[in-house]
Amino acid sequence: MRSVRCPSCGSFDDKVVDSRQADDGLSIRRRRACIECGRRFTTFERLEDVSLLVVKRSGHREPFEREKVAAGIRLAAKGRPIEADGGASLDEMITAIEDIVRMEGGTEVSTETVGRIVLEQLREVDPVAAIRFASVYLGFDDVADFEREITLLSKRTAPKEMRG
Ligand SMILES: [Zn+2]
Repeated sequence: MRSVRCPSCGSFDDKVVDSRQADDGLSIRRRRACIECGRRFTTFERLEDVSLLVVKRSGHREPFEREKVAAGIRLAAKGRPIEADGGASLDEMITAIEDIVRMEGGTEVSTETVGRIVLEQLREVDPVAAIRFASVYLGFDDVADFEREITLLSKRTAPKEMRG
């Protein structure tokens, strides 16, 4: 739901001033402000109904697709310990990531933001998968970006070396 008709003046021009997960955990409660008349109102949107656009580096926009992100994560996690329980914890993580992206993104989110959120989550469970994801999904612009990421990850994981 990108814009909603204002209950006062009928304008479709509004901005989201606050987004938070509703108590049921399945919907997002949004405070909106009408740009025309300033009226504030609240909408409840079920998570799967909320259309979220991903803004690519080129400026091109496309709908956020959970499966696309999930495929990248699964690829990165292939053969890693996080796949061990039949992918259940992986699925759980993907759901958590989708929620975070939607909460942070509002109606539009950049590919960089999606990538950052995935990396933050992956880093916690599997730094190697995080590196793989970074190189595959984000498509680093240059080697320096990749090296910076590796340095960041090795700093955080230096004490316990992962085997694999
Ligand atoms: Zn209005």
